[in-house]
Amino acid sequence: MNELEARRLLLADPRHLSPELRDEIARQPALAEFRQELLELDRRAQAALTEAPLPHGLADRLVLGARFGVVPKARLALAAAVAAAAIMIPWHFARPASDEVAMIEHVRDSRWELSDNPGVPHGLVRASLAELGVRLADSSYRIRHLGHCIVAGREGRHFTIDGPQGVISFVALPASTGALDRESMRVGDTVGVFEKRGDVLLGAFSGAAIDSASLRTLMKGVFG
Ligand SMILES: [Zn+2]
Repeated sequence: MNELEARRLLLADPRHLSPELRDEIARQPALAEFRQELLELDRRAQAALTEAPLPHGLADRLVLGARFGVVPKARLALAAAVAAAAIMIPWHFARPASDEVAMIEHVRDSRWELSDNPGVPHGLVRASLAELGVRLADSSYRIRHLGHCIVAGREGRHFTIDGPQGVISFVALPASTGALDRESMRVGDTVGVFEKRGDVLLGAFSGAAIDSASLRTLMKGVFG
């Protein structure tokens, strides 16, 4: 057995030693030292994993640990993960997604609606939108699909057309009381433009390479 083999065996299990390994350690003080380091690391890792995960004054202790190295690395990593989660979770819940974000996420999540294409008479879509107080302009675009979709907890209307650059989604949603959060946004390959008309938020969405100005023009043409 050479030193490299001995180190490999120690790394695998520093506690239970074969007679050969025991002899090798007896011959080489460096191996005995290496084994002690491994046992100490083991002890520290166990201590880190079994301590209370959320100590009081966590931030102070993190700073102390980083500054003076008094906190073992494994525990520091655990504590940092806990601290990161503690910072992120309340933020996430404190700021619910805006209607605009909910709408674009709905369009992106409802891929089946984009491919659904039975064709819907304009009169039917016009009547359905009128229930929300939204007007459908006369347009030559063929309407593929109409859904009564729940977005941000409210029932809206979601219809798709065969646009000049592929399928375009339109969503009309009874708006929350807030003002328009943003006029346009992009999430992944989906671009969306928004407009508030009275109590209703309108949105147009495309996954094609269409700029938001063209999409807005299309939206104004469809809603009149
Ligand atoms: Zn939908």
